[in-house]
Amino acid sequence: MANTDETWDQECDVLVVGSGGGALTGAYGAAARGLDTLVIEKTGYFGGTTAYAGAGLWLPGNQAQTRGGLDDSVDLGRTYFRAVVGEASPHELQDAYLDHAGETVAFLEDNPHLRFEYRPFPDYYAAPGRFEAGRAVFPVDLPAPESPHALLDAVRPPAWAERLGLPPTEGPLTDGRALIGRLLLAMESTGNGRTLLHTALRQLITEDGCVVGAEAGQDGRTLRIRARRGVLLAAGGFEGNAELRRDWQGLPGADWTMGPQGANTGQALVAAVEAGAATGLLDQSWWCPSLRFPDGTAAFTLGLHGGIFVDGTGRRFANESLPYDRMGRQMLAAKAGTTSDNPVWWIFDGRFGDELPGITVVPADRKAFTEAGLWRTAATLDGLAQRIGVDTEALRTTVRTFNGYAADGTDADFHRGEDAYDRFFAQGEGANPCLVPIEEGPFHAVQIVLGDLGTKGGVRTDAQARVLREDGSPIPGLYAAGNTTASVAGPTYPGPGVPIGSAMVFGHIAASDMAG
Ligand code: FAD
Repeated sequence: MANTDETWDQECDVLVVGSGGGALTGAYGAAARGLDTLVIEKTGYFGGTTAYAGAGLWLPGNQAQTRGGLDDSVDLGRTYFRAVVGEASPHELQDAYLDHAGETVAFLEDNPHLRFEYRPFPDYYAAPGRFEAGRAVFPVDLPAPESPHALLDAVRPPAWAERLGLPPTEGPLTDGRALIGRLLLAMESTGNGRTLLHTALRQLITEDGCVVGAEAGQDGRTLRIRARRGVLLAAGGFEGNAELRRDWQGLPGADWTMGPQGANTGQALVAAVEAGAATGLLDQSWWCPSLRFPDGTAAFTLGLHGGIFVDGTGRRFANESLPYDRMGRQMLAAKAGTTSDNPVWWIFDGRFGDELPGITVVPADRKAFTEAGLWRTAATLDGLAQRIGVDTEALRTTVRTFNGYAADGTDADFHRGEDAYDRFFAQGEGANPCLVPIEEGPFHAVQIVLGDLGTKGGVRTDAQARVLREDGSPIPGLYAAGNTTASVAGPTYPGPGVPIGSAMVFGHIAASDMAG
């Protein structure tokens, strides 16, 4: 909205909206360069979805990789990224990400609070320049504070704790929580960063086409915040907004996302559009198969080491060991698990006892799932087919064929187990440890639906992380990073750590541009 009022409730050089990895990298970067920086966060916690994440960071050619003995480089990263993403996002944007990845890590590690380390997790596509063992770096665990600490105590709890209403386990902050904690400490150490929780951006304030501040809601009152150098929007996607998801993605509801509930509802994106921003990739998310929970939510599921996925016809439709975003895309293509009427069933046998043969980021209570009809069991395969309402003969044939593949070690239909990523999680034996036969009763079926780790369509940005208008010109004073933007990865998820890694790089670039 155009500025019609000369009074401001708060003033700063840089206003950062959101507090995930991209936001806080930008906030630290601005504060470290001496800019008075204000972070506003809508919820009562810092960290957003980033705090839930494993926080692998895909940043080719960085110094933490070198310390880990990995011989990666920007050019190798570029070869791979181009091969996977191709023309699906502007090369200028891809190059900005790749060329600044190592520099971002070096800049961050100049602060003693920030430390990263290499851990293996394979890239997601067999393409030139790939590291089969992986190239992502992760934040080093952060020891828990010895006494109350206003910032660290407000880091969002892990997903399982929030979803199950449990306290987080004591001990160090790990993964995404370590990243958020470390970035907050780094920002605090500059003496130039301030934060406001429970403060939600509502609108951007413009003067002569330039963004000069924002209006935010806080405890029922309105704050007008002036930002002298610029506003960085890093407020996640619109995964929590059922209406926008229906309009832009053609999918019902917003219950199956992994975004913290009620957090990422697309307000920043809508505000940017009102200020003239162009958008792209609105139909895209970082997809993942997800376990459907009795309360209507769903939880990210990965790393299957047993079982197969079948659709409503009782047939397999993909390699179940695919990286999660690729499996999500197969579900979309097969229209399987996209609504509550067409669930995917994860079929496995009695050898796993009461455990699910895979990783779910929120643990499942078998009794509650069984009562809700989301976990069904039968002594025979035919009995299981009847329990889940799929054709008995079809399921029998699917399992017989799969068991034959397991005996041969070759999945002639979907090539499961042929890729390094598939084998990363395998626990089976024999020629192909990804193919574990389904033969011992009781037989189980658990509902899987299409979830996401956030939407990835949003405002279009350039190599300086500036938000662009439809005509390609930047909106002065407006920057964006992370899932508020049309992703640099286009409709692909090239490897572990691209969502947060790219958010951090563009947050870093935005800060450096605002510092001038
Ligand atoms: P977020 O981290 O969600 O931050 C957005 C913040 O903005 C939130 O705190 C929100 O409350 C706030 N906000 C929203 N609206 C407003 C408003 N109007 N005003 C003020 N604040 C607002 N990605 C990786 O790269 N590597 C991984 O290892 C990885 N593992 C994952 C594991 C799990 C279990 C999950 C769930 C996700 C994982 N992801 C991973 C995906 C990744 O976490 C997200 O896609 C990414 O963190 C999104 O970052 P963001 O900054 O765009 O949004």
